[in-house]
Amino acid sequence: MSSASEGTQHYFHRAAREMGIGSRLEKVMIAPKREVRVECTIEMDNHELESFVGYRIQHDNSRGPMKGGLRFHPHVDPDEVNSLAALMTFKTAVVNLPYGGAKGGINVDPAKLSHSELQRLTRSFIDGIHDIIGPQMDIPAPDMGTNAQTMAWIVDQYSKYHGWSPAVVTGKPLELGGSAGREAATGRGLAIATEAVLLDHSLDLDGLRIVIQGFGNVGSWAARFLYDRGAKIVAISDATGAIYRKTGVDINALTAHTQAKGSISGFDGGDRINPENLFSIECDVLVPAALGNVLTKDNAADVAAKFIIEGANGPTTPEADEIFAKRGITVVPDILANAGGVVVSYFEWVQNIQQFRWTEERVIAELQSVMSEAYREVKSIAKSSRCDLRTAAFELAISRVARATALRGLENENFCLIGAQK
Ligand code: NAD
Repeated sequence: MSSASEGTQHYFHRAAREMGIGSRLEKVMIAPKREVRVECTIEMDNHELESFVGYRIQHDNSRGPMKGGLRFHPHVDPDEVNSLAALMTFKTAVVNLPYGGAKGGINVDPAKLSHSELQRLTRSFIDGIHDIIGPQMDIPAPDMGTNAQTMAWIVDQYSKYHGWSPAVVTGKPLELGGSAGREAATGRGLAIATEAVLLDHSLDLDGLRIVIQGFGNVGSWAARFLYDRGAKIVAISDATGAIYRKTGVDINALTAHTQAKGSISGFDGGDRINPENLFSIECDVLVPAALGNVLTKDNAADVAAKFIIEGANGPTTPEADEIFAKRGITVVPDILANAGGVVVSYFEWVQNIQQFRWTEERVIAELQSVMSEAYREVKSIAKSSRCDLRTAAFELAISRVARATALRGLENENFCLIGAQK
């Protein structure tokens, strides 16, 4: 079992046991409903045939169609996809979207394929899974290595089988039914969650020192929103290195630089530092927004932040999580902190189904409302159960999924227990 799976399973079982939902329901809830593996054989530009393995793992659909990203990455493996699929079930439940969870991926390095090879690979994958995805069944979205263009190919290929179906994926280009505000949504939601947790501690963002790992979609938008609200982003890293500036990096200048150059490398608005020292930089808020399992038992004691807001999926191992709890560091968990993306994906799907476009102002207002409500509910459970925010978020998610599962008749004997609890 990879550490990715261990994290999700550990947090799920810890919360489930504290709630006392019973081992039978625990077993039903954590096992994925369907795991599909497809061999995608395509003709490369040099006319050779090459095969890639793709997965779609559908974890749970008790609350609605399954929802989750599609990752193109050389490290994609079924165990990791499985764990990320389960995480999606709990994430959609925390923010109370009418969805379950799924995840998919193809074991490929997209940087090594040409545009047309990627297109053929995406279409071949959809040929293999088109009958198990759909607007009312399972709705993929972009993830690492995929983007709006990938989603456009999926709409086209899926629609060849099933008729015009923009609602089969989210994260589409605007021209094909994408939503205003989707690109910035995860970073915006993260900023909303950060403000909410700070307010609980009688703090605000003005002048607060923030360190961010990752300057891609999540990290760069989070940086922009936090910076615009007065925070000082004192250090940032990406795959090419890290920079530090005690008085705060000019995020507008860094954004312009990365848009032109593709990375933070070569930016002269800060000192180059060793990325390995990033987490030990003195700050108020740490935002891991790049990779999973970066906060571990080996570096948790060095973390100098008072708050950790999880932009990435699964950045904290269970051992590190325990150390943070003992040290009084407040962690806002991934299933809440980075849920803004799937919330606006849901808005995109709603717009597609209604065939009605929302303004960006409406998207932003609805996102603010969903994120604030989710934070309020998680915080209230943390208070009444005297637990950390992660356990509370899992408890909220589990109670919602368990009730839907029980109501649908899959595990009747637990219905009374769950009905009585909440
Ligand atoms: P991205 O590919 O846009 O950006 C990733 C960033 O991480 C890049 O800046 C990259 O250079 C950097 N990075 C890679 N390796 C690094 C390393 N070793 N050290 C420091 N930085 C490194 O990806 P993203 O969409 O921003 O996603 C980041 C994380 O957030 C992932 O865990 C993803 O699953 C999660 N997430 C993304 C969304 C979304 O809407 N994009 C939503 C929820 C969760």
